[in-house]
Amino acid sequence: MHKHHSALGLATALRPVQPVTLIRPHAAQRAARFFGEKFPGKSLYAVKANPSPELIALLWDSGITHFDVASLAEVKLVRENAPDATLCFMHPVKAEEAIREAYADHGVRTFSLDSMDELDKIVRATDGATDLTLCVRLRVSSEHSKLSLASKFGADPSEVRELLIATRQVADALGICFHVGSQAMTPSAYVEALERVRAAIVSSGVTVDVIDVGGGFPSVYPGMEPPALEAYFDAIARAYESLPVSYSSELWCEPGRALCAEYSSLIVRVEKRRGDELYINDGAYGALFDAAHVGWRFPVALLREEASDTRNMAFSFYGPTCDDMDHMAGPFLLPADIQAGDYIEIGMLGAYGCAMRTGFNGFTNGATHEVSDAPMATLYGEDADEALSARVVKL
Ligand SMILES: *Cc1c(COP(=O)(O)O)cnc(C)c1O
Repeated sequence: MHKHHSALGLATALRPVQPVTLIRPHAAQRAARFFGEKFPGKSLYAVKANPSPELIALLWDSGITHFDVASLAEVKLVRENAPDATLCFMHPVKAEEAIREAYADHGVRTFSLDSMDELDKIVRATDGATDLTLCVRLRVSSEHSKLSLASKFGADPSEVRELLIATRQVADALGICFHVGSQAMTPSAYVEALERVRAAIVSSGVTVDVIDVGGGFPSVYPGMEPPALEAYFDAIARAYESLPVSYSSELWCEPGRALCAEYSSLIVRVEKRRGDELYINDGAYGALFDAAHVGWRFPVALLREEASDTRNMAFSFYGPTCDDMDHMAGPFLLPADIQAGDYIEIGMLGAYGCAMRTGFNGFTNGATHEVSDAPMATLYGEDADEALSARVVKL
């Protein structure tokens, strides 16, 4: 791995032809330590947000001992890079073969489910094991989140009682989990979901050992400045403490985005300018899926040795492939004199950015370099407030 001090230093020294992925291990380390110190329970890293082997090892070294996996490939990936980690198979719809192999060969004991069929599947695939932690996933609202996870998974309120009672009979430990949707912009998302958990516990009368509030913890992007994470943790702690759960119960969460958004960014080159449209060398099929398909805005900065003194204006981007869908509306604010040959850093791509890259149309990733400068925005550390206000002005 090549190391550089800053994105600017790298771009001016190397003038890379292909997009370059930047990683900032210190940023992921800081996020992991923050969750370790401040979340009032256990934090499972949701691997799908960024499955890079270096990141998995780094999070393990920074105190993340539990990983939320959704497929056998993710199970194996974590086993290879953090061999002693505890793996939790939290996809509510699994192949029976995957459950069997995860249980028998990889030591997985925690599974989630949202239907009787899945419960039967788990019992069959583990030959009626008596050492399982089974988490029933409830359907909750995604109304406070930028990306919904409300329609696909989660037991319907009308089925929850029966499912909890049946799961209690086969589980060594019974959990209840949910996901409020990704990038939840207010702590009340969790408080409202925990109200549904309370109703489910009361109506079924079961003893619950694990409450898992899932992912959804936000990061910071242009136009999306969430409250401090402490406000989320406080609200969750208060709501959890008032639940009728067993005295030895545990509180879990499954952050993906919040642990890794600041870990990666991207250096792209402008290949052509047409008015307020910039043709860059990465896009919808590369690390910028969300920028194209859900209109996500990421922070951008011109990487030019001599800073531009022109005002910023709003640009949209075209990616490199030969179709109109490879388009990112933005707006992305960049100096008005930007031109072909200039480099841009696109920040906060550690979550659901680099993870989603394809090689469509022959445009693949360039090199990965480690840099030690600060991420383009942060929710962590002593300078978080300062960075936040600086960012509000800058973005
Ligand atoms: C995607 C996912 C997560 C992580 O969500 P973030 O919004 O990235 O924090 C956690 N748990 C489950 C079950 C998921 O599917």
